[in-house]
Amino acid sequence: MAKLFSSAKTTDEVFPVQKSPEEWRSCLTPMQHAVLREHATERAGTSPLNDEERQGVFCCAGCGAPVFSSATKFESGTGWPSFFAPIAEQAVGEREDRSLFMVRTEIHCAQCGGHLGHKFPDGPAPTRMRYCMNGAALAFVPEGEETPDK
Ligand SMILES: [Zn+2]
Repeated sequence: MAKLFSSAKTTDEVFPVQKSPEEWRSCLTPMQHAVLREHATERAGTSPLNDEERQGVFCCAGCGAPVFSSATKFESGTGWPSFFAPIAEQAVGEREDRSLFMVRTEIHCAQCGGHLGHKFPDGPAPTRMRYCMNGAALAFVPEGEETPDK
């Protein structure tokens, strides 16, 4: 299944968090692995994080780094968790994605390079950006709870 939606393979960029393909397979669920490591896109409306309305932090499901905050989450109606900005500019990286006959901006975790989703220029104020994320690539930590230690 994942193959169908897979896009361009990741690059030679070196990220602070490095794991072998075997290590990634063993520490992620098959869905997390398909999204984070193989650039799959989860089916719209399948992530419980779509409806997550508590205050808190969305961490990368691969390495636990904080990547988005509930403060920038909005209901986009797309069926994917959407944000108008990352938690910090350096928290995510961007790359041009020319797969599926489109030019899109791919968004990945700056710590482990895990694929998170795409960015589109049709979001709300103040940034007018829409970070369309895969819930499977995120781990939500409600305010007051410890962030996962991976
Ligand atoms: Zn990560």
